Amino acid sequence: MSMIGIDLGTTNSLVTYWDGKQASLIPNGLNKVMTPSIVGIDDSGAIIVGEVARQRLQTHSDKTLANFKRYMGSNKTFSLGKNKFRPEELSALVLKSLKADAEAFLNEEVTDAVISVPAYFSDAQRKATQAAGQLAGLNVKRLINEPTAAAIAYGMHEKKDDITFLVFDIGGGTFDVSILELFDGVMQVNASSGDNRLGGEDFVDVLIRAFAEHHNMKLDKLKGQQLANLRLSAENCKQALTSEMHSSMSIRVKKQNYDMSVSREQFNDFSADLLQRLRQPLERALNDADLHGDELDSIILVGGASRMPIIRSLASKMLGKIPSAHINPDEIVALGTAIQVGLIQNDETLKEIVLTDVSPYTLGIDIHNENDQGESGLLFHPIIERNSPVPISRSDLLYNASDNQSKIEMGIYQGEALYVRENIKLGTLKLKIPRGRAGSESIDVRFTYDINGLLEVEVIVTSTGKKERVVIEGNPGLLTQKEIEQRLKSLQGLKIHPREKLENSVLMARGERLYENALGEKRAYIAELLQLFEKTLNKQDLAEIKSLVNEITEIFDQLEQDSPLH
Ligand code: AMP
Repeated sequence: MSMIGIDLGTTNSLVTYWDGKQASLIPNGLNKVMTPSIVGIDDSGAIIVGEVARQRLQTHSDKTLANFKRYMGSNKTFSLGKNKFRPEELSALVLKSLKADAEAFLNEEVTDAVISVPAYFSDAQRKATQAAGQLAGLNVKRLINEPTAAAIAYGMHEKKDDITFLVFDIGGGTFDVSILELFDGVMQVNASSGDNRLGGEDFVDVLIRAFAEHHNMKLDKLKGQQLANLRLSAENCKQALTSEMHSSMSIRVKKQNYDMSVSREQFNDFSADLLQRLRQPLERALNDADLHGDELDSIILVGGASRMPIIRSLASKMLGKIPSAHINPDEIVALGTAIQVGLIQNDETLKEIVLTDVSPYTLGIDIHNENDQGESGLLFHPIIERNSPVPISRSDLLYNASDNQSKIEMGIYQGEALYVRENIKLGTLKLKIPRGRAGSESIDVRFTYDINGLLEVEVIVTSTGKKERVVIEGNPGLLTQKEIEQRLKSLQGLKIHPREKLENSVLMARGERLYENALGEKRAYIAELLQLFEKTLNKQDLAEIKSLVNEITEIFDQLEQDSPLH
């Protein structure tokens, strides 16, 4: 029985454990610490997760799914073969694979987990993450905010006391900013802000749109496979522009090649709107923490997209400081989840450390009365203000607005806007009240925001003293407990690709991808290698297979280095 830490990312996921002294990363079946958050089905109909699925993203785009974390907390469904999956089920398949890696590595059953979520994840997105854990057979002991996890790992590493720092966390699909203070062993989040629909993938979209515009190409006319190729090419171009000043994109449609070269400067221009969107949460977090950029001791960049020069320079320009360079932006959140595991286990080494967090956004209600036709019900009424330390519980007394009113119905919202239509609706709360004159009946609405960032609402009708824990209804993005149990059963019935065959399958999928990209002699050579590999696999001589895998991997590495398309 043991507990693991998981960074469940949009693009990659990592699994960790606390070994009693320090946080450690757990390698997957391919001996890598990063597992692509990609799910697919192989030719036999078995579920594949991670690198094999990533390799098939281009060659089998209709049987592979990526970026589903962006839809957590929504009721979007994805088709994979005969099955339809919700985002939390796809996340559960990634979690199951990480759990299996941890069990193989630790040589014991894993039952519990700490999972990191973007700080700016909404209530529905958090509940969906918790459901994903449950569907993967994990008891989710804590949801920890990604920047907070990064901060605690950074704090342990620095061993300095009394520092104020900013975590700038931009992954594939989300952006979080947190300002923290470490003082006397207490790690306190002062302010947190972000945008849960902004990340590295948006910079890929920008390149795709520029490419389409350049060639006067209608994206909705492209086939799934062509679109997948274009996306891959844009992703490679974006990553290349991190280290080079120029790069290019290309796809082949109906035997014709389409190319476009992009300079870093052009890419920066294409991304102007996204950069503008990055500024706002930074300004808000600084404002809320009542700080100027130059009062920060350091800036920590987290998440794969923080490698982009344009993002680094935005952070240094806005904050007047060069970000810390010695941190691995891919691993720091995962290491923080392991420290949280240690904290939950009350580990001796960590007994001096206290971690506190805040709610990143305001939570409140609107009030719709039975006879209400006026405008007032559309206004936002905050109950818990953003950046309140969690856990927190706040209540407010609300009165019946009209005579003889028998029901109260109100929307629950998160956000900062005056009008609720501009905030995110979390659900609706409905409740019967005794009839009476307007203003004579009241209810006490209590919002409790727990340490996982999950909201609970409780209502007491003052005149009867009746207390109700309210289930927030009407959020299509959430599964009920009963639905979770049903889906758990159907997930258990799925065939999963065997872990020990991963390496061979990755090689085969990679070969198929290279074959599709190559032409002429190179193509024939790859076909020959793949046939030889298949023949050797059938002989089932493990030593011979292993040595051929190494040999072909080297050849593929060389071919990819020579290729303009990776
Ligand atoms: P994460 O969710 O933290 O794994 O971050 C994934 C995002 O980082 C994706 O959008 C990647 O395209 C992006 N990313 C990773 N490496 C680089 C790089 N070298 N340059 C630009 N973006 C990158």
